[in-house]
Amino acid sequence: MDLVIRGGTVVTATSEFTADIGIRDGKIAQLGGNMTAVNEIDARGKLVVPGGIDMHVHLERMDLLSKGDQPRMVDDFYTGTVGAAIGGVTTVGNMVFPERGEDLGLMGMLQVAETDAEANAIIDYTLHPVVTDPSQAAIRELPHMAKAGYTSIKIFTLYGFDKRVQDYIEVIEAAGRNGILSMIHCEDKPINTFLEQRLVAEGQSDVRYYPDSRPDYGEAVATARAIAIGEAAKSPIYIVHLSCAAALDVARRAVASGQKVYVETRPIYLYLTRERYQLPDGAKDVGWPPLRERSDVDALWQGLSMGGVDTLCTDHAPWTLDHKLDPSLKVGSFRPGMANLETLMPMLYSEGVRKGKISTGRWVELISTNAAKLFGIFPQKGAIAVGSDADLVVWDPAIKRTIRGEEMASNAGYDVYEGWEVQGWPIYTISRGDVVFENGRVTGARGRGQRVIRGPHMPL
Ligand SMILES: [Zn+2]
Repeated sequence: MDLVIRGGTVVTATSEFTADIGIRDGKIAQLGGNMTAVNEIDARGKLVVPGGIDMHVHLERMDLLSKGDQPRMVDDFYTGTVGAAIGGVTTVGNMVFPERGEDLGLMGMLQVAETDAEANAIIDYTLHPVVTDPSQAAIRELPHMAKAGYTSIKIFTLYGFDKRVQDYIEVIEAAGRNGILSMIHCEDKPINTFLEQRLVAEGQSDVRYYPDSRPDYGEAVATARAIAIGEAAKSPIYIVHLSCAAALDVARRAVASGQKVYVETRPIYLYLTRERYQLPDGAKDVGWPPLRERSDVDALWQGLSMGGVDTLCTDHAPWTLDHKLDPSLKVGSFRPGMANLETLMPMLYSEGVRKGKISTGRWVELISTNAAKLFGIFPQKGAIAVGSDADLVVWDPAIKRTIRGEEMASNAGYDVYEGWEVQGWPIYTISRGDVVFENGRVTGARGRGQRVIRGPHMPL
């Protein structure tokens, strides 16, 4: 073997056992039994889990970060994947938007982003093209995308969605036919615009009123519509960053009726509430959708523990504090998103597993295995089995750490969980057999990450 991980408690979504793990040529070659190796890791007293899979991140192309007509999000494929590796994530799925002035089509966009990711990522990655022009040309590209191992698209029910719903239905139908999962951001644009305008007209445009500009009922109605489109199109629908009980109820009913609907939530909706917007620097906690009520937080936790929520992904979309707190911003223009990649797994472990809300196996399922299945990379990823990629995390359940923004790899420089006491962190992160993070030190080289070639979407 090239590497043996000795004596750890191996935890997968469905089992827990003590075994040595042998790794050869980047894959898991043996589980248990006698093995010798060039290198060994002593994992006694530690957990060994599949690397995290965060299928919703926003990492910027390096060539665009240096162009400066307006502020952009601040992490590229290097800093983003370094943070990921430190936090135990070994695969990221990045959203690829068309750039102004570039008319490349879906495959063209993906190729440009892939060149950038290939040069900079330290862990494996995949890409989701955002469909902003639901044209027949886009539909014609879908089979080529699927063949090239890109089996997802991202759609927003914002921007120009309402003007072209019928075209989007055709795109979603074609996606389903090609084994492509439609990831949908669900908020109702006309309702939000109406409310934003009214709040501004009434002088209620500061961050305290921000959550009222993007209410839960707007999210719920957009979720219902996305699901209805999925039903009409006979296509699976993946709701990104669902934030509230009202939308979760809608999704639950669809799942109960047998429809292929999957729900992702996002860390901030599990740990924070809209009270944050009462603070003078509340704008740093702005996301789309906004933080909600305590009862929504409770509903999402129930979905994590009892079912109904399938994945936890970050929507890592980091800005600097200056960009977030820019005093010229108001309701309708606050910058959405924040850094979250590095804390994804530790926070859910600490707040979920350690506090008895979810089991360790469920943690693995939510953070890795379900995403691997839905995005067509299981059991290459998201599993600990002979033949799977050796994407593994040696997890120390005893390490305590206080979250400090300035200590994070993200260029954001601040963290929304500043000062939280968290217990449980990775001590080793292993990507295809290479140790990329070891005892506080990042050892993975820039550009060693590879694109995961994905198969068709798999239902859970
Ligand atoms: Zn996003």
